[in-house]
Order: sequence, then C-alpha cells, then structure tokens
Amino acid sequence: MNIDLHTHSYYSDGVLSPKEIINKAVNAECQFISLTDHDSLEGLAEAEKSANEFNINFIKGVEISAKHGPYSIHIVGLGINDNNKTLIHGLQQNNQFRINRAKMIGKGLQKVGIENAYKKARSLSKTKYITRTHFAQMIILEGICQNMPSVFKKYMNGNKPGAVKGEWAKSDDVVSWIHSAGGLAILAHPLRYKMTLTKLKKMISDLKEIGLDGIEIVNSFSSPDEIAKSKKIADDYELLYSCGSDFHGWPNQSIELGKIPLYDYGKKFVLNYL
Ligand SMILES: [Zn+2]
Ligand SMILES: [Zn+2]
Repeated sequence: MNIDLHTHSYYSDGVLSPKEIINKAVNAECQFISLTDHDSLEGLAEAEKSANEFNINFIKGVEISAKHGPYSIHIVGLGINDNNKTLIHGLQQNNQFRINRAKMIGKGLQKVGIENAYKKARSLSKTKYITRTHFAQMIILEGICQNMPSVFKKYMNGNKPGAVKGEWAKSDDVVSWIHSAGGLAILAHPLRYKMTLTKLKKMISDLKEIGLDGIEIVNSFSSPDEIAKSKKIADDYELLYSCGSDFHGWPNQSIELGKIPLYDYGKKFVLNYL
C-alpha cells in the first residue's frame, strides 16, 4: 500500500497545484495522501475536492516551522481542521516572519552580486508564498550553483550572505495549535537536523513532554539503518510512526511522490489514530 503523508504544492515551496499533487498520488497508486504545505492551509480545499473525485483518501495536513531552543525544526500536523482559528492565527505569525525574511535574504544576496535576488525569487512562486527554496532555485537557474545542497552551503546557511536566523513560533505553541485544530503533531524528517544523536534524543524527549504525538520514520531515501534508528527513537519515547516523501517537484530534485521504502508499520502507525 503506497502512502504519502508529507508533500508540498505551490502554496508553499512546491511546483505543482494541489490538484496536480492528487493526480500524482493517483498515478503512484497511493491509498492515502496528505498535503502538508509550509505554514499554509490554502491548498487543502482544492486537494480534498480533487481527492474525492478520484476516491483517494485525503488527510489534511500542514508543516509548521518551529523554534526549539537554538534549532529550527519542522512539525507536521496531520488530520487538522483547516478552519480552526488558533491554527490560522498562529500560521499568520510565521508567515509574517517569512515575508520579512525573504526581503532580508534578497538584500544579503544582493551584497554578494546576485542582482534583484528578491524579485527573481519572487517570480518563481505562483502564489504569494516565497521561501528559501525559491531563492535556492533562482540561484540554480542563474547558473551560480548546480543543486540545492550547494546553494545552502554557499549562500543560505550559518553566517553566509543569504542566511537569516529563523524567528519561528515556539515548538510548544506549534504543538498546541495543531492539537487545538484536532490534529496529531509529528516531527518531520528527524534525522535531517544536523544534530548529534544525544541532542536529537533530548529534543524529542522534550517535545514528547509538550505533547508531540509521533515522528516520521520513513522518508524518500531512508536506508534500512535510518528507519531502524528512527523507529527505536519513536519506541523509546512512545511516539507514533509517520512517513512521507517530502515531495516538492522541482526539476533538479529526484524525490517522487508516493515512492518511499515500503515498511510494515504495525499498530503504532499514525493512520490508525487519525
Ligand atoms: Zn521539512
Ligand atoms: Zn516538507
């Protein structure tokens, strides 16, 4: 059974419309699909409508940026009510920061000779959302870098010219927004935060204290070792398992929607609790 509980449309930093996401899910023979745009609920109605036409199970989702101590992390909300005022208001806060950040990134890149960076990145977005991915894709299109990892390394991370410290909502607020919207709070791609295993476990233990419900244990290219490692962490802290490709659809990315390693999740699979 193909299941993808983590995807992006052009309502955040993906390329496709919500309808096209559902088409992809149908072609990939997914039984369950969730759209989880960054800090945005705008694509959910269109995706749900299209999923109903194709008779595919759709789960309303969102991926929220959060600050946890010094770390910027992503918390996915699954099974949320997209009319919930607390959630909507919370996401507005994050988006205000995202707009300010985009302008600051643009200025930073301008200083190192990337002219009209903000304007060019803006033109790659089909909606009002402008994310770091748009800047990275613009830098690739300009022929300055070849892929996303090299853009982030050279321009966007640490103390590089396009790096802006994330002033996202606090993790405990984010978890409570998701819960007030009736959803489950899932830590996205736990092995991607560039922290030691000890620090990661400490963070997950703290997140569990504030109500985290689960973690993703399978992403697009998870190796059997990585899956085992994430599953062990989930078990140690009594968390549910989730999974998703984190599909965005940019031409230079090899991730495919609905294509993640097959895994027998058993009873603790998040779908059993939605
Ligand atoms: Zn993420
Ligand atoms: Zn994502």
